[in-house]
Amino acid sequence: MQLTNVLNLPQPLETAIVGFEKGYQSGRGDTKISVTQLIQPPMLKRLTDLHWNEIEEDVSERIWLLIGSAIHGILEKSAGLNVLVEERLFTEVRGWRVSGQADLYEPNGTLSDYKVTSIWSVKDEPKKEWEQQLNVLAYLYELAGFEVKKLQIVAILRDWSKGKSFQVDIPAPVKVIPITKWSREEVLKFLDERVALHQLAAQTDPENIPPCSADERWSKPSTYAVMKHGRKSAVKVYDDLGEANAAASADPVNLYVEDRPGQDVRCEQYCPVNKWCPFYLRTHK
Ligand code: SF4
Repeated sequence: MQLTNVLNLPQPLETAIVGFEKGYQSGRGDTKISVTQLIQPPMLKRLTDLHWNEIEEDVSERIWLLIGSAIHGILEKSAGLNVLVEERLFTEVRGWRVSGQADLYEPNGTLSDYKVTSIWSVKDEPKKEWEQQLNVLAYLYELAGFEVKKLQIVAILRDWSKGKSFQVDIPAPVKVIPITKWSREEVLKFLDERVALHQLAAQTDPENIPPCSADERWSKPSTYAVMKHGRKSAVKVYDDLGEANAAASADPVNLYVEDRPGQDVRCEQYCPVNKWCPFYLRTHK
């Protein structure tokens, strides 16, 4: 992984981000797969492993990660006795060493992960990956002898504002999100299936690995907006073109249908390996 600084951000910021990345990588050296990688799509991890030395990311894309690491540092300093902060724990699944690290374990049995994220990512149900990540981490803590009673994400909302808070009913720039705890059987099944998928991908040519699912690609389906001449916002947005056409035909002089093409948001904006991904190269020319 090569970090660039195309915007020529201040040197101390660049140094901090590069240093954080180096520390992060050295912490992964003694493990086969981390919980973070385990919940990634197998195609994405396989391509990342194959092209690790060629992947370029700019430090400007790492600012929120740096803020997240600063929050972890503050937690570490302010943690009381018997509180575990960023403890790395391990287990073995199908011969692979799986490691994980939660941000905070408190003596009352609460396991928390802190995320610096967008207000839009917490307005609905908790993300599936958060539930998967925290449940595997809870399992690792229990294996190490710590009772886990409660799981939660503490989301620090980087784009919160008073205006948005009324739209989404989130009154402060932080939201505590309870996460459902799985049974031991569910966790073991999940771990076994995910490791098996990654092991298979690790031995397979990327051309023959199934692409990430629509969910994993953060796909937004195409929609069809019924628009009115002279008005900027849609009268109504439909998932179905036929329904949109039918609605617009009620007043063909003033109404028309605007096609809003779907998007694979992760592929297009957030995937560091899209230029090597067979699916992306086939579908995004
Ligand atoms: S480009 Fe899309 S499908 Fe390909 S690895 Fe990235 S997220 Fe997955």
